[in-house]
Amino acid sequence: SEERSLNFIEEIVEEDLANGKHAGRVLTRFPPEPNGYLHIGHAKSICLNFGLAQKYNGKTNLRFDDTNPVKEDVEYVDSIKEDVKWLGFEWAQELYASDYFDKLYDFAVELIKKGLAYVDDSTAEEIAAQKGTPTEPGTGNEYRNRSVEENLQLFADMKAGKYADGEKVLRAKVDLASPNMHLRDPLMYRIKHAHHHRTGDKWCIYPMYDFAHGQSDAIEEITHSLCTLEFVPHRQLYEWFIEQLEIFPSKQYEFARLNLNYTVMSKRKLLQLVEEGHVDGWDDPRMPTISGLRRRGYTPASIREFCERIGVAKRENMIDVSLLEFCIREDLNKTAWRRMAVLDPVKLIIDNYPDGQTETFSGENNPEAEGGDGSREFPFSKELWIERDDFMEAPTKKYFRLGVGLMVRLKNAYIIKGESFTKDAEGNITEIHCSYLPESKSGNDTSGINVKGTIHWVSAQHAKTAEIRLYDRLFKVEDPSNEEGDFKDYINPDSLQIISTAYIEPDLANAVAGTPVQFMRKGYFTLDKNSTPDKLVFNRTVTLKDSWAK
Ligand code: ATP
Ligand code: MG
Ligand code: MG
Repeated sequence: SEERSLNFIEEIVEEDLANGKHAGRVLTRFPPEPNGYLHIGHAKSICLNFGLAQKYNGKTNLRFDDTNPVKEDVEYVDSIKEDVKWLGFEWAQELYASDYFDKLYDFAVELIKKGLAYVDDSTAEEIAAQKGTPTEPGTGNEYRNRSVEENLQLFADMKAGKYADGEKVLRAKVDLASPNMHLRDPLMYRIKHAHHHRTGDKWCIYPMYDFAHGQSDAIEEITHSLCTLEFVPHRQLYEWFIEQLEIFPSKQYEFARLNLNYTVMSKRKLLQLVEEGHVDGWDDPRMPTISGLRRRGYTPASIREFCERIGVAKRENMIDVSLLEFCIREDLNKTAWRRMAVLDPVKLIIDNYPDGQTETFSGENNPEAEGGDGSREFPFSKELWIERDDFMEAPTKKYFRLGVGLMVRLKNAYIIKGESFTKDAEGNITEIHCSYLPESKSGNDTSGINVKGTIHWVSAQHAKTAEIRLYDRLFKVEDPSNEEGDFKDYINPDSLQIISTAYIEPDLANAVAGTPVQFMRKGYFTLDKNSTPDKLVFNRTVTLKDSWAK
């Protein structure tokens, strides 16, 4: 790929390497919480973490941050693994924060023994009120003065299930006057009598993010722990726990999360779209999920290229989804085979072509590839399907396609001339009649006639049928999460258009899921996962040009 300057994280890594920090070792981690499917924002984090390790001969762990039993599920674990692999990355180790629960418990006991943690019986509201405000120090309470022995006993009782949810918490004893609110005796453990998808019913106390993440990093000896900007205020606490526990000094660095327009990216919101039936599952081709993009026909290379282009910065911004579309177009232009498909069909009859005759023509698979990437054959006959908008009843001056008296080339076949048409009672054109120039055959044209337009077609008697799904943006506004009211009020009602009967060239019956094709002049398409030989279904990945009107 092209040379580009180092991003700020690469600069940090290079400096660490130059200073011999961690003996030249680079170990990153990608830490998803298994409470939803991965989205394009996660792809940015994946490309960053795995890309950094690749660049500096390091490794990356896949660590499930599964400390919140209520919302997590193995379905999500499986999908996350599939998506990371599909993006083209291999993790060094598959790890689970829940595997560290015993160790984290021991760390907590250690802090209690050092007088740095205490059990608090206050309610969440009381704790919040006693924390003070950014300008007023917190007040604390009598529990803060509990003895080490009492704290050890109470914490053991919490673990043993003696208390109900919310009855007690374990807090770090840091600094109730700190200007950083996160240091005002943050929670370390809460009681939650809930079944965990991995540890079952072994635990009824669960560590908070701040007391699990940094410790997990340290246990794995992660050298560079990358997270998004909202964790900047957590960094001090991350470092405090590591210092007090005297464990491996992992370092946290923050980068700007990816925001993409015309979509939402929080897993909570995506889950709502799924559960309330606004989309056909997490992998609906309109979803910004990795699985949705895959089903839509995006390639791993196009997503990696997108992540490379958006770069890594320290300031939040909004990325235009047209950049993502640009990346997939660029990729597919080089690789996708060209085929003919008529999405809005009208019958074309060639009056002077012999009844019952069939010819076979051929066309390159991909004119952008060297040698055309081979070619395929397709039949031609007297009756064809063409696109309704490739014929104009009263053609305007600049119209270079078909009209009565106008000539156009049928792709890879003959030049034809419009002769007449018929209409139904409602005024819709039902049939177009034309004549063809027998001496104008593509590749062997002696007609001496030049036409400006070329249109695609399929032979009516040989065509296969397919259902075609055309997608538009899922939301009508750029930033639905920042509009007034519910984000779902801004769903685009026309984000899916289904064409139940399109006519496609016979070879498309051999289309393979995951292998994109270009329907000439209509865009890039891919077989849907629910397509069957009896009922072919194609999804449009993207149009050929950026045609979306703003
Ligand atoms: P969500 O807000 O969608 O629930 P999350 O950050 O809670 O996202 P995690 O599963 O915790 O989801 O994320 C795993 C990793 O991916 C984290 O390191 C997180 O910072 C990163 N990540 C999540 N969303 C984005 C994003 N939009 N851009 C870049 N990185 C992201
Ligand atoms: Mg998270
Ligand atoms: Mg989350």
